[in-house]
Amino acid sequence: MTAVPYHLNLVGGEWVDGERRPNTGAARPDEVVSEYARAGRETARAAIEAARGAQPDWARQPVGYRMELLDRVGSAILDRVEELAVLLAREEGKLLGEARGEVTRAGQTFRYYAHQLLQPSGEVYPSTRDRVHAEVRRRPLGVIGIITPWNYPMAIPAWKVAPALAYGNTVVLKPAELVPASAGELARIITAAGLPPGVFNLVMGAGGEVGDELLTSTGVDGISFTGSTGTGAQVAHQCLTHGNKRFQLEMGGKNPLVVLDDAELAVAVRCALDGSFFSSGQRCTASSRLIVQAGIHDRFVAALAEATDALRVGDPLDPTSQLGPVVSPGQLAQNLDYVRVGLAEGARVVAGGAHRPDEGQFMRPTLFAGARNDMRLAREEIFGPVACVIRVDDLDEAIDVANDTPYGLSAGIVTGSLSAAERFKRDARAGIVSVNLPTAGTELHLPFGGTGASNHGPREQGGYARDFYSVPVTCYTGW
Ligand code: ADP
Repeated sequence: MTAVPYHLNLVGGEWVDGERRPNTGAARPDEVVSEYARAGRETARAAIEAARGAQPDWARQPVGYRMELLDRVGSAILDRVEELAVLLAREEGKLLGEARGEVTRAGQTFRYYAHQLLQPSGEVYPSTRDRVHAEVRRRPLGVIGIITPWNYPMAIPAWKVAPALAYGNTVVLKPAELVPASAGELARIITAAGLPPGVFNLVMGAGGEVGDELLTSTGVDGISFTGSTGTGAQVAHQCLTHGNKRFQLEMGGKNPLVVLDDAELAVAVRCALDGSFFSSGQRCTASSRLIVQAGIHDRFVAALAEATDALRVGDPLDPTSQLGPVVSPGQLAQNLDYVRVGLAEGARVVAGGAHRPDEGQFMRPTLFAGARNDMRLAREEIFGPVACVIRVDDLDEAIDVANDTPYGLSAGIVTGSLSAAERFKRDARAGIVSVNLPTAGTELHLPFGGTGASNHGPREQGGYARDFYSVPVTCYTGW
């Protein structure tokens, strides 16, 4: 047996052991991709202390210093795209092409925040008093606990860690337990880039222990969390009751894609196929409700069902695969449960649906037609390759149905009408709105986040990230 990498926790610049655990791959659960040192509360406490100790010096360094180090981290990631993408594809199960895209995004994100440091910071206001200078400056929030999910194991840690460090904070990262290798490699890269000890710390362990330690510790000033809406509510409660910490939550979605009669059919099918099924539907921006106007409905359902059935589900490292496995046996069981729920509620499977045990975690993308927006199929986030079509009569009804959800992350419309597109951008209740594009395509320099049950707190990514990771200080100077 060839040796697999063993990832340790990083605390104050030291590699810290824990309970040695195998990290199995998504495509082949019997294959050990790596091992990791599972940590508990004690290691988390030590990491918080190290981050506290390192924070004042880190914040006082000239921006040129932080800029240079973050740029180095970004370049090191970009130098190793292929190797990291293979690891990511094996660990999480996304296609190698998608994994390359994600690793590249992670590297670019570090470089982006390195250069954001040269943007103007703070504001000068006129004072209403004589001989007074009024300004708003920014200072770092302090120590940030970062809790991340398994679906973007490189990109999400990057888009939280990079701005946190750039704006003068120190970090304790707790990744999801399904993906310790991606986080472990990130820690190695950050260390090799020469960041001072304690500025970035990694603790791998259970949400209820390591995560909870971050939420309840008085040594942590802010929590940036991405995960499920249920866990997000617990994070909020713990942050509020333990020192009134600042928190930022990115949670679930049940994103609508509206298709109007005047849509170009090929564009509508392409947007739905990508938004609903790519990355095995494991994206919080996935389009899981396809809201389709009556005139195009039957043609759209027939064309999308055909395209869905034609998708090649297979090994993520095989370049001919178009869809990889779902991440874990637990996720597969949940997806298949929702297929049963959809059938029991009276929706009709028009593509996929069946699953044989010998197919392992390679679930066929499944499309339902004849769904209603009050079905569980249309209300609950599934986080798998399952989407449903809901028929509507006109744009008014489409917008009502699109907005009738507790969530509000991403919403899309496919239409040839400029006025329908403008109306949708105005009225869709979501943080991201796409026209004639999949609901799941986002760019790193633009704000990312939602409304309702999808989000709490300031936006992530782009220049907006500064709002969470720094605190405005209003200064009056008499002279
Ligand atoms: P997902 O389905 O994406 O894994 P979760 O919300 O369960 O969503 O997990 C997201 C992250 O939150 C993971 O890193 C997980 O370990 C962590 N987590 C889970 N429960 C808690 C908790 N009670 N306190 C803090 N973090 C938690």
